[in-house]
Amino acid sequence: MTEPASMEKIVSLCKRRGFIFQSSEIYGGLNGFWDYGPLGAELKRNLRDTWWKTMTREREDVVGLDASIIMHPNIWKASGHVETFADQMVDCKTCKGRFRADHISSIPCPQRPSKTVASCAEEKTEPRPFNLMFKTHTGPLESDDNIAYLRPETAQAIFAQYKNVLDSSRQKLPFGICQIGKAFRNEITPRNYTFRSREFEQMELEFFIKPDEVIAQTQGSVAQWHEGADLSQPQPNWGWEMWHRYWVDQRTRYYQSIGLGPDVLDYYWQKPEELAHYARACVDILFKFPFGTEELEGIAARGSFDLDQHSKFVGKPQDYFDEEIKQRYIPHVIEPSAGLDRLALAVICAAFHEEESTDDKGKKEIKTILRLHPKIAPYKCGIFPLLKNKPELVEQAQNIYRRLKKQFTCFYDESGSIGKRYARQDEIGTPFCVTVDFETIEGIKEGPQAGLLGTVTLRHRDSTQQERVKIEELDQRILPALS
Ligand code: ATP
Repeated sequence: MTEPASMEKIVSLCKRRGFIFQSSEIYGGLNGFWDYGPLGAELKRNLRDTWWKTMTREREDVVGLDASIIMHPNIWKASGHVETFADQMVDCKTCKGRFRADHISSIPCPQRPSKTVASCAEEKTEPRPFNLMFKTHTGPLESDDNIAYLRPETAQAIFAQYKNVLDSSRQKLPFGICQIGKAFRNEITPRNYTFRSREFEQMELEFFIKPDEVIAQTQGSVAQWHEGADLSQPQPNWGWEMWHRYWVDQRTRYYQSIGLGPDVLDYYWQKPEELAHYARACVDILFKFPFGTEELEGIAARGSFDLDQHSKFVGKPQDYFDEEIKQRYIPHVIEPSAGLDRLALAVICAAFHEEESTDDKGKKEIKTILRLHPKIAPYKCGIFPLLKNKPELVEQAQNIYRRLKKQFTCFYDESGSIGKRYARQDEIGTPFCVTVDFETIEGIKEGPQAGLLGTVTLRHRDSTQQERVKIEELDQRILPALS
């Protein structure tokens, strides 16, 4: 983890190497919107894939959904977003700036940046609510009758499709539906790079469980959370508290599996007075960003609020028929809700390292190494011929490149010294590099199976160690690190 001052360096690396660009930059940019360049797109895709794999493909009790962004406006009435999805906003009467009320003590005053909006002398309005949903219209007429909203979260689509998924996938409680997709919030003050954007991606799970009363009825007792409880094996008598803890534990394991350990994570258990009126518990998983420790994911126990609301609004119970007790009831829900863009920023921040080294001429230089977990690194392997003007080295390096890129992302590079090429890959987090040299060619000439019996140098990013590896064994050496 780097010092707080490094945010500037991270932003500069992300632009220079093509992870993240300001949206519409050639037109001066658009506040709160970001584009992912070639490396950022790969990184995000890898994060998305690891989340999807752990949340649904590796489980029998979770299925996926891919819903539309614009949905019936009544969904947002039922969920409470039309009425209450708002942040408190204050206006400055002098500069006419609008600011999120709970951020004014950290936002610099636009006119006197040495002061914050809270501490500058200018007169401000009383806080008032500002709804964060982006509005649009469906169809050719723009009237109050066809207002629609860009979804501010992916979760409501899951509740709205709960019955269809239940009927079509024949799941039994407890089971979950997960979704990854874009969400939009007209944030009053987007800031901290991509951390708070107006368009972002969420990765959400709604995990439906039996209400505690039903568990008591069928199991005779309800297991609630206690220190030291075994969370690894879900039990039929688990109540909501156990499921809530279970998901906090599962999500922590996920973060560990992509390189975010206890040194960079923290937890905030919301106090009863901070909880949304329907929530029974909510824990935020926090990441230690250079600009402060902030939320990466929220895991809430939401009771039956959402399905109750949709039942009321559509006039049809969004319920579950329990074969065991021959009763219908509305399931309760545990919701782990994570932000993909915040996660991409977090893994870049956690991976960012600088090391002092000495170049060929004895000059000191600072090198950047992005120690991304191999699973999520944009490129898995850099492939280089030692010299670009030796056709036999180039040909062999290209053969290896063509072979390996069928299995994982590879980057072929023949320009500059080998040291520079390693440094370029270190900076973008490539965990392995392969160099084809004269020994490779010798081995190939001597071997009966031209091409595969030769050896190459395999270099490891984090240890910088190099070893001789047979070409035919390269994929077996690299693949295990990627799963
Ligand atoms: P915050 O308090 O930071 O505004 P929130 O509690 O409103 O976040 P949720 O509604 O719980 O956030 O959304 C779930 C997740 O979606 C968050 O943990 C975060 O990772 C992500 N997220 C929410 N708002 C944004 C945003 N404006 N930009 C990027 N990611 C976001």
